[in-house]
Amino acid sequence: MGSITRSITALFQGAPSIAERLARIQGPCRGGGGNRNIKVRIFDQHQFINDMATPAEVVNDLQTFLNGLDTTPGLDPPIATGLAPYNFTVNYETITPSRAQIDSFDVNDFPIYFLTTTGLFKSSTDSVLDLLVANRIPELTFVGRRQDALAQPVLGPVRTYTIIKDDWEDKPSVLGFGIPGVYFVPNSQTRCRKLGIIKMQGSMIENLPFPKRRAKIVSILRHELGHMFGLTHENNTLMDPNYDVNGTFTQYTNDQLWVVVRALDLLTS
Ligand SMILES: [Zn+2]
Repeated sequence: MGSITRSITALFQGAPSIAERLARIQGPCRGGGGNRNIKVRIFDQHQFINDMATPAEVVNDLQTFLNGLDTTPGLDPPIATGLAPYNFTVNYETITPSRAQIDSFDVNDFPIYFLTTTGLFKSSTDSVLDLLVANRIPELTFVGRRQDALAQPVLGPVRTYTIIKDDWEDKPSVLGFGIPGVYFVPNSQTRCRKLGIIKMQGSMIENLPFPKRRAKIVSILRHELGHMFGLTHENNTLMDPNYDVNGTFTQYTNDQLWVVVRALDLLTS
């Protein structure tokens, strides 16, 4: 796959990119049919999670957080009503999904891979780019934020392959990536193509005593899932780009959850 990836990366400059063309060739997303059971699926073949906490602790913390979104203190009642029908489950699996399993992901699946840039099991930049291709992630997707009384989120572009190329190996301080589907563009055929990647070991655990690690991994998962739910960065919130800052927040804001409801409704309808 290495040579294929290199030829793909070499062709990123043009528009549409190879990745965008691949996504088109490989078929559109199926409709959600109104199913509001959202499945977060953590794939951790090398069990890096044990550096942080037990799998059961992380699954429990994250699932409790997600199922409590509609009872977030201070939430506007219409947003709470919009979130109430959603049911979240978090699965932890010590496998790397096969091509066939990846192909069977549906709109309600939120796959998150635990990988590393250090040690015996390190993933190269090329292999992470391959993972994006396997999951049919387009080069261009969007994050959004609520602005004033506008009926739709204001969008910002996310250049997925470019970010991985720049940040996977060369920015140790970046601990995760949350790539949303193209939710807010009408009739997008890549709305189901979301992906999370967490950079385990290295900076994740450096100088951090074990008792503080459970909170850190759960916080990072909340942040990256925020992006996978369509949220952009926003200073002094859970979506602050700086982990030292976002780690001090334990809930999304009212306006962020307004965006999340829209993203989930567009995804699952
Ligand atoms: Zn972020």
